[in-house]
Amino acid sequence: MRKLLPSLLFLLLKLSYTFAGSPFVATTWAFTQATINAWEQLNSYDLALDALTVGCRTCQAMQCDFTVGYGGSPDENGESTLDALIFDGNTMNMGAVGGLRGIKDAIGVARKVLENTQHSFLVGSLATAFAKDMGFPEESLTTNYSSNQYETWKESNCQPNFWQDVTPDPTKSCGPYKPKSTCSLRRRHPDPILTNEIPQDIPESVFNTGNHDTIGMIVMNAYGHLVAGTSTNGANHKIPGRVGDSPIPGAGAYADSEVGAAVGTGDGDVMMRFLPSFLAVEQMRQGATPSQAAQTAIDRITRKYPSFFGGIVAVDKNGTVGAACNGMDRFPYTVANRTSNGAVVYYADCKQT
Ligand code: ASP
Repeated sequence: MRKLLPSLLFLLLKLSYTFAGSPFVATTWAFTQATINAWEQLNSYDLALDALTVGCRTCQAMQCDFTVGYGGSPDENGESTLDALIFDGNTMNMGAVGGLRGIKDAIGVARKVLENTQHSFLVGSLATAFAKDMGFPEESLTTNYSSNQYETWKESNCQPNFWQDVTPDPTKSCGPYKPKSTCSLRRRHPDPILTNEIPQDIPESVFNTGNHDTIGMIVMNAYGHLVAGTSTNGANHKIPGRVGDSPIPGAGAYADSEVGAAVGTGDGDVMMRFLPSFLAVEQMRQGATPSQAAQTAIDRITRKYPSFFGGIVAVDKNGTVGAACNGMDRFPYTVANRTSNGAVVYYADCKQT
C-alpha cells in the first residue's frame, strides 16, 4: 500500500488537472501573433494573467492594425492616447487605464493598477505619473504614420469628426466649436418615452472598418483561471479626453471563472452604454451558449442602434468559443487551444439587421 500511495496521488493530481479546464487563448480580430505569444507563455508557466499581458503587449509593440499601441488613432490635437484593462475572473479584481499619455505599455500599466493599488481605474496625465513611478519610460506616442493620419485629416477639413449640434457646422469645418444654444437648459428632444421604436435622430457613426480596433483577449489556464483584457488607442480623430469602452469593466471585457468571459470591439461610445461583455457573461450564467450570449449582447445594442459597428467574443469555462457582430459582413476572431495547433482564425457571420 505504501508503494501504491505515490502513484495514486499522482493519478489524482493528473485527473484534477485534466478536468479543471481546457486552457485556451481567444482574441478579437485576426491578431494571430498576439494569440500565439500568449498561448506559448501559457504553455510555459500556466499563468493566465502573464499570458494575457504578453499577448496584448505583442499587439502593442506590433501596432496591430495601427489601432493598438502607440502611433495610431491621433486625437484632434494629433496625440495618440491609450486605453487598457485587465479583469481577473477569479478575484473579480481589475486594473485599467484610460486616456494614458506618453507611455507605450498600456496593458503593463493596467497590470500595475491591478497588482500594486487598491484602485481599479486611473486616467490621463495622472495615470502617466503613476506609470512613471512604476518604472515605465515616458516617450512620445507620435510616429510618422500617426502624424500623416493627422495631417491628412486636417487637410480634409477635419472630416469625419465626433462633434454634433455645435457651431460652426462640424461637417464642414475644423472648429473651434461652441454649443449652438447658449442656454444650457434648452431641450433638444421631447422627454423620452418608453418605446420599442428605433430613435430616428441617431447621427451616423464615424466608426467603420479601418478606423479603429481593439485587441480583446480572453485566457484560461489549466486550473480554470479565466482572465480578460483589452488594449487600444481608441477612435481615430477622437475629441481629446475621450475614453472608449475598452477599459470599462463589463463593456470592453469581463470574466468570471465560474462562468466564462467576453470581450468587445467596435464603436465604443455606443457599446459602453450596454455593457455587452457583462451581459454576455450573465447570459452564459443563465445557460446560453457563448454564441447565443454574444448575439444577445449585440441584439441589445442593435435594437436602439441598428447600424452600430462591433463584435463580441464570448467563451465559457469549458473553452467553447462563440462570437457575434454587426455592421460588417463577418467578424474575425482568433483561438489557440490544445487542439488548434497554433492560432486559428474563425469568422462569425454578422446577422443582417
Ligand atoms: N472599442 C474601441 C473604442 O471605441 C475601438 C474598437 O475596438 O474598434 O475605443
